[in-house]
Amino acid sequence: MTSRGTSKKTFEWIRQYKELHGCEVCGEGRALCLDLHHRDRSEKSFGFSDKAGSRSFDKIIKEIAKCMVICANCHRLLHGQERLEAIAKLPDTEQEFPLWGE
Ligand SMILES: [Zn+2]
Ligand SMILES: [Zn+2]
Repeated sequence: MTSRGTSKKTFEWIRQYKELHGCEVCGEGRALCLDLHHRDRSEKSFGFSDKAGSRSFDKIIKEIAKCMVICANCHRLLHGQERLEAIAKLPDTEQEFPLWGE
């Protein structure tokens, strides 16, 4: 049997884990505002936004251990900063600028 979507158990576990830790940057403690961010991208096996639910609980726990808990705002800033640095290095003729907001 292949299960699709995050099981209730996994979902609850992740929610409690987030709440317990809170945002590492600003201390936000509401689970719904919290994301998981891979500290080292090279160690990333999979992201949590996509198909994490179809992984086994053990695999998810192992993956979470590589992550920091961070709120959506701080997460955006963190990646935004990387993006700004990447854009700063682009030549003026480059057209690939990100769209801010949809
Ligand atoms: Zn934060
Ligand atoms: Zn991230």
